[in-house]
Amino acid sequence: MPNYSSALQEWKQTLGEGNVICDTESIGFYTQNVGGLEGKIPAVIKPHSLEEVQQLILIANRYETPLWAFSTGRNWGLGSRLPVKDDCVVVDLHEMNRIREINTLHGYVVIEPGVTQGLLWDYLNENNLPFVFDATGSGRDTSIIGNQLIKLRKSSQDTALRLLSH
Ligand SMILES: Cc1cc2nc3c(=O)[nH]c(=O)nc-3n(C[C@H](O)[C@H](O)[C@H](O)COP(=O)(O)OP(=O)(O)OC[C@H]3O[C@@H](n4cnc5c(N)ncnc54)[C@H](O)[C@@H]3O)c2cc1C
Repeated sequence: MPNYSSALQEWKQTLGEGNVICDTESIGFYTQNVGGLEGKIPAVIKPHSLEEVQQLILIANRYETPLWAFSTGRNWGLGSRLPVKDDCVVVDLHEMNRIREINTLHGYVVIEPGVTQGLLWDYLNENNLPFVFDATGSGRDTSIIGNQLIKLRKSSQDTALRLLSH
């Protein structure tokens, strides 16, 4: 049985009050979608590091609270940021947008979920790196991870992106 109030209290202590959103007006943004779908979101959590993600999942497990994560939330046509089930706490990862490693010898990059197609493209160009990567036509501001999960059906464990020489 989920215990939302205890989980919320611990998330606030761990991530800071400002990163745990519970007010109806702010949550309204997360339910908006072009499909007119409706759903109930009890809270939104915004982690900023791998360690915070690990901590928030441990808390969710302890209090049996379901989570729903997104990277940049532009999953237009398929619900945007709205979870498929009611009462999931949304994990908004879009502010975790660091490029952690670029390996030019082996041609891969390790990125956080909020890294967008535009951000990586600019990084490669600004640093004169002779690489391109698989992109979709969804736009600059959509995430690489979200597009990989939705369109390319790669494993969610696969956090390193292969770069192609050009
Ligand atoms: C202008 C525009 C037009 C579009 N037109 C179409 C269209 O005509 N048809 C169509 O089918 N799509 C369309 N899309 C959607 C597009 O194809 C991609 O689905 C979208 O870009 C993915 O958005 P995102 O990177 O923000 O992913 P997100 O919304 O962040 O995530 C995509 C999915 O993966 C899951 N996910 C993401 N990150 C994680 C994570 N770190 N851990 C666990 N789960 C995760 C999310 O829960 C979600 O279900 C359009 C998008 C835009 C912006």
